[in-house]
Amino acid sequence: MKKMKAAVLKEFNKPLVIEEKEIPKPQKGEVLIRIKASGLCVSDIHIQDGIINTVKLPYTPGHEMAGVVEELGENVTGLEIGDHVTASIDLICNRCRFCLSGMTNLCKSLIRIGFEKDGSHAEYCVVPAENVFRVNKDIPFEQVAILTDAVGCMYNAIRNKANVKPGDHVLILGTGGLGMNAIQIAKVFGAQVYATSRQEDKIQLSVEMGADAAINTRNQDLYEEIVKITNGEMCDVVIDNIGIKTSINDAINLIRPGGKVIISGYNDPYFEANYQNMMKYEKEIIGMRGLRRIDIIEVIKLVEQKKIVPYVYKTVEFEKINDALDEMREGKAKGRVVIKF
Ligand SMILES: [Zn+2]
Ligand SMILES: [Zn+2]
Repeated sequence: MKKMKAAVLKEFNKPLVIEEKEIPKPQKGEVLIRIKASGLCVSDIHIQDGIINTVKLPYTPGHEMAGVVEELGENVTGLEIGDHVTASIDLICNRCRFCLSGMTNLCKSLIRIGFEKDGSHAEYCVVPAENVFRVNKDIPFEQVAILTDAVGCMYNAIRNKANVKPGDHVLILGTGGLGMNAIQIAKVFGAQVYATSRQEDKIQLSVEMGADAAINTRNQDLYEEIVKITNGEMCDVVIDNIGIKTSINDAINLIRPGGKVIISGYNDPYFEANYQNMMKYEKEIIGMRGLRRIDIIEVIKLVEQKKIVPYVYKTVEFEKINDALDEMREGKAKGRVVIKF
């Protein structure tokens, strides 16, 4: 039996253990992908910390994958060995009312690769063929890896949840792995885009990514800056990638009447918000989880057309996965870190 290396989480609050495992065999309707790149997400840290209660140990995390089709199970059509691909991590029923209305991310029997099932922090991963999406071979694997999460989630937030239109004032709170991609996507929809950070290099980078203004909240008052930049109109949309107790209320104060706050970060379990401000001005707080399967096709198109260049902060070798996770935990990573094989 052929072996592969996989990074296995055996105990919560402990490093991943790189060990040899059997290469899984694709069954009927499945595809074996040789992983070339696997993105590291804040969720990987939440998983390691034991706060995602659907995770059962031991298992291999990893939910942002790019690779090459290595082997096809029986009855797989439309894919060929050697194709460059990424995959939706959502294993769905295709029958429930959520699936049938296109909201596949909310499927009643959702199981996620890299959360409830072995993921891509390994040399190989088996995925149902219906989850696999081909990508042009000229897109680097590290960019392909983050399409279905760091890029795709922000696409879902901006396109589906916020329904951003040309001329909208869109503020991206938190410019990490998600934020740098969010800036580019909001520009695709014609928005005026603003970003925040407390680090000067991220401020610079936000502008390079296309932000019309970037506000350093370490020495600038965010509310006053938004009043100034928007001529007092305030934001149509705030994307909150921070997700701490106070960030939602800050966001509510920064939107116009009828404006929307999209929740995408999740750190603190609860927030406090001024509900009278929401009620009187018909402001909306909207939750956002992952992305719908159709979004993957649209995101791939935008990347192939070079309208979005997925932002990867750096790539690291597979063997350094624990160092990379520690770096993220310490807040040193200024964007997506991607493991390369
Ligand atoms: Zn993720
Ligand atoms: Zn379903």
